[in-house]
Amino acid sequence: MPERIDLLIEGNVITMDGDRRVLTDGAVAVRGDRIVAVDDASELRVRYEPERRLGGRRRIVLPGLIDCHNHLAQALVREYALEDYPNIYRVYIPAEMAMDETDAEVSAKFAISQLLRAGVTTVAETTCTREHEEPIAQTVMETGIRCAMARGLGDRTSRLASNYEQIDERSTYSDDPGLLREDLAASAEWLERWSAEGEGRLRPWIHNLGVPSCSDDRFLATQELARKHDSGVMCHINRDREEIELALSLFGERPIEHVNTIGALDDRFLAIHAMLTTDREINMLAEAGTAVAHAPIVCTDIVSAVTKVVSMRAAGVTVGLGCDTVINDLFKVMRIAFVMHGQASGIPLYDPTALTTEDAMTMATIDAARALRWDDDIGSLEPGKAADVVVVDAENTRLTPAYQPVGTLVRYAVGTDVESVIVAGRVVVDDGEVLTIDEGPLLDEAVRLGDKLGAVLGPRRYRPLAEGTTVVQ
Ligand SMILES: [Zn+2]
Repeated sequence: MPERIDLLIEGNVITMDGDRRVLTDGAVAVRGDRIVAVDDASELRVRYEPERRLGGRRRIVLPGLIDCHNHLAQALVREYALEDYPNIYRVYIPAEMAMDETDAEVSAKFAISQLLRAGVTTVAETTCTREHEEPIAQTVMETGIRCAMARGLGDRTSRLASNYEQIDERSTYSDDPGLLREDLAASAEWLERWSAEGEGRLRPWIHNLGVPSCSDDRFLATQELARKHDSGVMCHINRDREEIELALSLFGERPIEHVNTIGALDDRFLAIHAMLTTDREINMLAEAGTAVAHAPIVCTDIVSAVTKVVSMRAAGVTVGLGCDTVINDLFKVMRIAFVMHGQASGIPLYDPTALTTEDAMTMATIDAARALRWDDDIGSLEPGKAADVVVVDAENTRLTPAYQPVGTLVRYAVGTDVESVIVAGRVVVDDGEVLTIDEGPLLDEAVRLGDKLGAVLGPRRYRPLAEGTTVVQ
């Protein structure tokens, strides 16, 4: 008698397991929220009687993709930040400050809709605004996505004296111990509550905005909290030149060096961006077991350096890919990473293996899971792991024939090729439609929020928007 299971998902199966097996005519068997078997389809069809069959002929089955860095509250800012420099403090942060709880929910739903539709089953969220934490967490729970969700900000105000000002002034900083105490208490409550209520799908983390905004005490206290609750700390670091200049002027050290000096760099620390990172700092990351969240499009979007991903990986640093709100489609992000690091590291040395398509897929699956300390459960298709599975429809001339499915997906696939998405055994995208989000009303809400943000952000831009762009002012 065949065993009853919930789902049998068939196709060319990219497992991303230790041997990087790709099973031609393979299948994944799912019972409840777990994968129970990954094998040849002919074998599993005999062994199991599924409630439902997914995938099939000319389908590629892969692990749910994992986005290592995002800000779900910033999804509607994208048009206003484009090609207007500098944009983080002028555009992104004022946008968050202008958004109420309902706006945060709309933005999160909008981003999660894009992510799920493109086969992203896990997102690492970095919330910067206290009022947005609860609506975003609730939206995560409702929409069915998996999330490592970091909350918190900083307790330090710092000021970088520009080159011209340094004739009379120096860079300065001041810390706010009261704010630190308050925020640590909120983080402790956050870690405790969501560890219990996240249903294993929302894992709480802590966010440290960065070295210019966080005291040494905060870095050490959040490290302790993360250890106590078996969680982690996400921190924007070595992102732009101003940040490096500030750290050098205040401490005589670069940001990663400084966090290492005070003893806060460890295997629970996720370094976001790390674009302007020296070889010396890469060794510090490797020794501490610190992972990096790399959002390649942001290297271009804020015209900072190309992250030294090839050197980092060679040194043993785990690197996961991130969408960072700008492009919520990891197929595109994998492709950008493949091309960017091929150009930066491969072409100068005539080394076609500097960063391969398989490396790009690794950084969006199993290494992304490692970066989020979640690889015991997600990141590959293996029995016992959570059933986070994506089916790509390859019934088209872009994706068939696919002699190397990994390379084919990285080079040619787009998010809308995704047919089905399963998170923890639940089908959340079916035949290309997100089941957990009603996109019609959401689009109306997104336009409303986009217009509202336009009224705030339009006049803040250095470069006016093109004639005909509707920005209510
Ligand atoms: Zn960020």
